[in-house]
Amino acid sequence: MDKAKIAICPVCEMEVEIESIGRLFKTNYFQHTFYFCSDSCFKIFKKYPEEYIKKRKKRKKKND
Ligand SMILES: [Zn+2]
Repeated sequence: MDKAKIAICPVCEMEVEIESIGRLFKTNYFQHTFYFCSDSCFKIFKKYPEEYIKKRKKRKKKND
């Protein structure tokens, strides 16, 4: 069985299947592609993209 490609919605941190819902709600920001679980998260991100990008970077650092 094919493994579904999963991204994390930067707004609510839910898993997003890139091949299905991720195709509908995605955006590029500073050469990064972000996928969203829903139109509402997509809209929130567009309003405050820097907030969510900052959060993501912080989380990444923690795991390193
Ligand atoms: Zn979301």
